[in-house]
Amino acid sequence: MTTVEFHPLRVAAVEPLTDDAVAVTFDVPDDLAPRFRYLPGQHVTLRAEIDGRDVRRSYSVCANANSGTLRVGVKRLPGGVFSTWVTEKLQPGDMVEVMPPVGEFTITPDPQRSRHYGAIAAGSGITPVLSLMSTTLESEPRSRWTLIFGNRRADSIMFFDEVQGLKDKYPDRLHLIHVLSREYPDIDLYAGRIDADRLERFFGTVVPADRIDEWFLCGPYGMVQTAREVLARRGVPPEDIHDELFFAGPVDPSTLIAPEEAEGSVSLRVKLGGRTTETRMDPEMSVLDAALRVRSELPFSCKGGMCASCKARLVTGDVEMTKNYALVESELQAGYILTCQAHPTSDEISVDYDV
Ligand SMILES: Cc1cc2nc3c(=O)[nH]c(=O)nc-3n(C[C@H](O)[C@H](O)[C@H](O)COP(=O)(O)OP(=O)(O)OC[C@H]3O[C@@H](n4cnc5c(N)ncnc54)[C@H](O)[C@@H]3O)c2cc1C
Repeated sequence: MTTVEFHPLRVAAVEPLTDDAVAVTFDVPDDLAPRFRYLPGQHVTLRAEIDGRDVRRSYSVCANANSGTLRVGVKRLPGGVFSTWVTEKLQPGDMVEVMPPVGEFTITPDPQRSRHYGAIAAGSGITPVLSLMSTTLESEPRSRWTLIFGNRRADSIMFFDEVQGLKDKYPDRLHLIHVLSREYPDIDLYAGRIDADRLERFFGTVVPADRIDEWFLCGPYGMVQTAREVLARRGVPPEDIHDELFFAGPVDPSTLIAPEEAEGSVSLRVKLGGRTTETRMDPEMSVLDAALRVRSELPFSCKGGMCASCKARLVTGDVEMTKNYALVESELQAGYILTCQAHPTSDEISVDYDV
């Protein structure tokens, strides 16, 4: 069941990671600890009022899940509303609304397991991978990791000390490969972007791709797609490749701001928390934006088809989804939709956020 559940949490620490990134740790009171327990690789949605607007963004937990620490890493984007606020304004002692952790980009650790995990991450894409690696290296003593980690320069690497610390702690079980696009290490293989050619060269030499059981990809859309294609060409089945997209391209601004006018030709019924609300909507709008006008407490986060916070079941009617980077085939078959990407194609639709 999808519930809207934000809790105000006190910021315990804001630590600089690089010139444009910080790590934020939250205090979780004892009574909320069970709700904020997470699996490595999961993410939380943060909410704040910035310049009078309710702004929500997802951030992956970067900590070892065994520690229970709720810590995220935020990289400032040029002009980015939320990331600029976090990196420039947020202070220890401030309160931030936080939704409990969710997400499928994860591993449920099993001490008996002996697996070779592979990760390809770029920039802030290291955050969930760091959590996955630190948790499983500790909880699965016979598992190992190979990480290909792309960044611009050495001084822009988020969590450099933490990743290096894992390498020092588990020298035989973590193979760490840095790739820098704006610095030029002596060996050409490690200088440049993580593209198809470089991955093929890694897989033919320093990375034993055929011995890696499962892959975790996190970074820009292009890198993730390229890595998927290269792995598929090498025969890796899709179910052994997991990805987490932080951003999938330019967001249509019309999906971010609900149009003023409520009239439209389509009837929309929204069920949330056992209560159904009816409205009418313009099919040009997303179902989420239309529904938010009448039920402002609806769950959502990225509005880009990636995080699945706005998932609901389509009970009646038909919709078309512009993008879907989050729902798997079985969920689609079961009637689930990403409401941020869904546009009605029938005169009447009803969606249920409770199932
Ligand atoms: C599941 C999930 C987990 C995430 N985890 C992290 C994390 O651990 N650390 C982290 O720093 N971010 C993470 N993100 C991205 C984060 O949610 C925000 O999208 C990011 O911080 C930008 O928000 P903003 O408000 O600053 O930028 P906005 O004001 O939304 O956008 C500013 C400009 O940047 C573009 N843009 C927006 N997001 C991105 C992006 N990620 N990459 C490139 N361009 C972008 C926009 O089109 C716009 O032009 C995650 C996203 C998802 C969906």
